[in-house]
Amino acid sequence: MPALQRIAIIGGGPAGALAAAELARSGLEVLLFDDKLAWEKPCGGGLTDKALARWPFLRDAQVERNWVSDCELIAPSGRRVGFPLERHIAIFSRLALNGLLLDRARNAGVQLRRERVLQIDGGSGSWTVQTPTGSYAADFVVLAAGARNSLRHRFTTPLGPENFMVAAGYYIPGNHHTVQIKFLKNLHGYIWIFPRADHFSAGICGRMQGKSTAELRRLLEASLPEFGLNLDGATFYAHIIPSLTPSALRESAFAGDGWAMIGDAAGFVDAITGEGLYYALRSAELLTEALLAHAPEKYPVLAKNDFLPELERAARIAERFYAGEWLGGPVVERMIQLTQRSGRFREIMRDLFSGAQEYADLRNRVYESLPRIAGEAVVNAPWNAFRRRAP
Ligand SMILES: Cc1cc2nc3c(=O)[nH]c(=O)nc-3n(C[C@H](O)[C@H](O)[C@H](O)COP(=O)(O)OP(=O)(O)OC[C@H]3O[C@@H](n4cnc5c(N)ncnc54)[C@H](O)[C@@H]3O)c2cc1C
Repeated sequence: MPALQRIAIIGGGPAGALAAAELARSGLEVLLFDDKLAWEKPCGGGLTDKALARWPFLRDAQVERNWVSDCELIAPSGRRVGFPLERHIAIFSRLALNGLLLDRARNAGVQLRRERVLQIDGGSGSWTVQTPTGSYAADFVVLAAGARNSLRHRFTTPLGPENFMVAAGYYIPGNHHTVQIKFLKNLHGYIWIFPRADHFSAGICGRMQGKSTAELRRLLEASLPEFGLNLDGATFYAHIIPSLTPSALRESAFAGDGWAMIGDAAGFVDAITGEGLYYALRSAELLTEALLAHAPEKYPVLAKNDFLPELERAARIAERFYAGEWLGGPVVERMIQLTQRSGRFREIMRDLFSGAQEYADLRNRVYESLPRIAGEAVVNAPWNAFRRRAP
């Protein structure tokens, strides 16, 4: 294909901003459109060690964020377990994270346009991007406009509600260094308390076809006192999180002739955890690699050889994780019980939270360790604590 000259990127979140910076640094003319530019996009803001290791500038940047050293899990029964994280998680405010990535893009020579894209016309090699104040020509269009975007249908089929979770939460003044996650009975999702530099992102997510946003909000509000939090000075937020079914992940096109989607726009989010920042950045990086090799058609292949199998695995096991049974009880209860009682199982959970443990070999690791986990679980069972204390 002829060399690309001008790339239009719609959306300046992590996906769009990273792609824009990398493309401009390699000499392409890049126009990035976002009507908000850096803003407090509803999010936990948690970046795992896996992401920080891949993009060290995020670890090293002098921007406000909080380092989290501990994690606490709470089961529907109220059972709780805390454990230290070997590799700390960074919790960013999205204003800071987006600002950092957009500054990099600006410094690389990207033209940032604070405008909303209303329409995209034309086709491969000859696109016209329409905003309220003008129209712009481009050879290639990158859609990085997030989960809630009105432009996706221009390129591919819209996603049905079965492919989304809803999320609601509050930013609440305060701070500490423990991430808390609480699972609730009959909720395909969870409550999170993510401590940022000077406030918490406290939120709840659940299937779009499950509970309404209002119900989720009530459940969250009812749980806040348990975390020592209240709504004084709090700001409400709500958004949606892509959570594609395995078939949607396999079958929905995310690239075509002269266009590609990255990040949430393409639905690249872990269906169990809702983690999307890593996949937004990684998909941006892979698209950039394909474009700079003058082979945009390679982008889907690169994604399929990289992170897509992991997202498909998450999509396949999400239902079982939230609603299934394991070792004679609900999966989440058992997971928290074993984390409490077995050091070996705790190591696995710690690696899962840092991003070092992939779903691909999770099952094997758990089953190979099962004799040791079972032994530790029996030794550390409450009835044995009584025996241990007995003279
Ligand atoms: C409540 C909540 C909590 C989350 N917590 C975490 C977490 O802790 N860790 C994690 O890894 N992931 C988390 N996620 C997911 C994460 O927020 C997303 O995966 C991530 O923001 C995706 O980045 P993106 O660049 O693809 O899209 P976005 O960050 O959504 O950026 C899209 C950008 O496009 C712009 N835009 C949209 N339409 C247009 C238009 N027509 N014209 C111009 N601009 C447009 C928007 O203004 C926006 O800035 C959470 C999501 C939610 C909703």
